[in-house]
Amino acid sequence: MMHSILLLEDDAAIASTVVYALEREGWQVTHAHLLREARGLMALQTFDVYLLDVGLPDGNGLDLCRELRQAGDARVLMLSARGEEMDRVLGLELGADDYMAKPFSPRELVARVRALLRRAMQTAALPAASPFTHDEAGQRISLQGQWLDLTRREYGVLALLLAAKGRILSREHLFERIWGLETDSMERTVDTHIKTLRAKLKAVDAREFITTHRGMGYSLDT
Ligand code: CA
Repeated sequence: MMHSILLLEDDAAIASTVVYALEREGWQVTHAHLLREARGLMALQTFDVYLLDVGLPDGNGLDLCRELRQAGDARVLMLSARGEEMDRVLGLELGADDYMAKPFSPRELVARVRALLRRAMQTAALPAASPFTHDEAGQRISLQGQWLDLTRREYGVLALLLAAKGRILSREHLFERIWGLETDSMERTVDTHIKTLRAKLKAVDAREFITTHRGMGYSLDT
């Protein structure tokens, strides 16, 4: 997959140096001279990394940085001619991931862009959506679109694990929340329900969703 980079820079000499250095890495670079031009390109496609100059003939690159951050996840590196502390602080406050003051070495820029691309790929590699859906009103949970046939307590355990979003819940916690004051051997009761839950989840999806943390409790991969 080819990485795409948007460079917003009105200085022709700097832009050509940057474009040359980035293209040599095999990255696809789109160059805009003006804010208005960059906005037009961004309406057509998203880029893996945005390199934004601060001082532009038709405005301030920091505005675009703010817009990108409000619109969602984007990797932004600000380029500033002035190298002013103010731009750096503002850029990072507005959500820029990195900042470089001109003049900078193309090699250094390439290294910083590579780091941003790596982070962008890590984000993209995260699971897009949980395989579980929880219908709280109906007190039922589905896995891969299939409603699970759970007993009331199995449902209770799974619902608590889901709500914990991967955090470890101790047996004591699960027992208190689901069984309350009923007396029974706590550990065995929870373990038995976890065991039947695992079997029911496995019947739908072979992966292991529930992790046992020895001496601590259980967590759910969502
Ligand atoms: Ca400029």
